[in-house]
Amino acid sequence: MTTSASPASPVTTVRTGLALESVTLTYPDGEARLTALDNVSLAVAPGEFTAIAGPSGSGKSSLLAVAATLLRPDSGRVLIDGQEVGALGEKARAALRRERLGIVFQQSNLLASLTAVEQLLVLESVRGGSVRAARARAEALLASVGLDPAKQRRRPHQLSGGERQRVNIARALFGSPSVLLVDEPTSALDHERGAQIVELLAAVTREHRTATVMVTHDRDLLGRVDRVLEMHDGRLR
Ligand code: ADP
Ligand code: MG
Repeated sequence: MTTSASPASPVTTVRTGLALESVTLTYPDGEARLTALDNVSLAVAPGEFTAIAGPSGSGKSSLLAVAATLLRPDSGRVLIDGQEVGALGEKARAALRRERLGIVFQQSNLLASLTAVEQLLVLESVRGGSVRAARARAEALLASVGLDPAKQRRRPHQLSGGERQRVNIARALFGSPSVLLVDEPTSALDHERGAQIVELLAAVTREHRTATVMVTHDRDLLGRVDRVLEMHDGRLR
């Protein structure tokens, strides 16, 4: 396997989704180590919506951080579209994240000074593309997640929690990711708005063919997903 390809053009272009193989992750815990992920294996295909349910502290966010290539596991392999992440240097990993991964965190980390549409366009300027060419695509994407043109011009504080989460989802989709990782997307929302967000993620997974992993501790929201896996003490069942 080569890692010498340009960071802008990852080795593989085939979309096969996400795979974790026998992943173990520990954190320092005083003199000892705390095992956050214990021999976890998981495969999510393009167009598949998988939920991971489990109590607080069971390792759900750790699993997403490893899948997002933000944390390196102690052992085991992470593959994104068949590309083994552990074999890549930092630059190539950053390129892989940019080009293959969409991440929606629990806290909406939108920039306070930017409108909804600008939240997406700022990524395009980071990428070095043409902002004008990207604007129509950003507007269409925001409309597709349910944000009408008037709301696209609002800043985060002028949007509801559910609308902010829609912007987050649109932003995660803007780079056409293969893998969509979503951590507790409904924790700041009431039940009905939460159900609408899960509904939206199901639709997005079908339309964009993402391999989607959603972490939640709210079991009432799992009617729309293809598969539910349970996490307990770092183990997946
Ligand atoms: P969940 O998302 O299911 O609540 P986490 O993955 O956040 O679970 O945490 C799993 C375990 O790892 C918990 O016991 C937590 O306290 C511990 N943990 C999480 N992050 C760290 C860290 N950066 N350093 C040390 N321990 C951590
Ligand atoms: Mg968590």
